Amino acid sequence: MLPENEINRVLVVTAHPDDADFGAAGSVALFGDRGVEVTYLVVTDGDAGGNERTLDHSGMAELRRAEQTAAAKCVGVTDLRFLGYSDGTVVPSLDLRKAIARVIRQVRPDVVITHHPDRNYQFVAPSHPDHRAVGGSALDAVYPDARNPYAFPELLREESLAEWTVREVWLTGGSTPNHYVDITDAIDRKLAALRSHVSQVAHVEGFAEFVRGRSAAWAEQAGFDEGRYAEGFQVVPTA
Ligand SMILES: [Zn+2]
Repeated sequence: MLPENEINRVLVVTAHPDDADFGAAGSVALFGDRGVEVTYLVVTDGDAGGNERTLDHSGMAELRRAEQTAAAKCVGVTDLRFLGYSDGTVVPSLDLRKAIARVIRQVRPDVVITHHPDRNYQFVAPSHPDHRAVGGSALDAVYPDARNPYAFPELLREESLAEWTVREVWLTGGSTPNHYVDITDAIDRKLAALRSHVSQVAHVEGFAEFVRGRSAAWAEQAGFDEGRYAEGFQVVPTA
């Protein structure tokens, strides 16, 4: 694994507004505490999510961008990019790989955090088709697209975006995590971020207990002391 002092920039690539907060907001808050620059890249507008059916389609997209922006602020992130894909329709594609490779070359992150591209047979929720498509395309964008100057050569030719090698990818939602971050000091910020997604969570009874319970379960799996909270990742070396 990369030593902490070699992680200066992190790019979080997710399918929907709120995914970054469920999977990684605690770790993101702690990165921010250490001065790491974090950027969010959100592929869809989450316009098929939520509980409030009086909003029209475009209203939901706008609302969810605003909610994600507010959530990001809770954990110190102000650089957000949205690709505007339609919720529920994402498939692995050259178009998506190029869009992610573009942002990788712009941000030049040491670490990319994204969805695990494989289906989790222990717990189905993280395996939404959009998540798997985004995770797979993000990994393809990390290797080989972003580092290969001959991949999408127009990025270099027309946008002056030189190749960039991401050294490590952290995958969320998989069934085989190999790295746990103790987020006890950031659990309140993670909860605040999650609560910013009002259209998604305001109607969920016992939401804070659910989040604390999941985070405590990760900590137990990690072997941390009782009363601690954690997030789990599968770390993939990609240098
Ligand atoms: Zn999602």
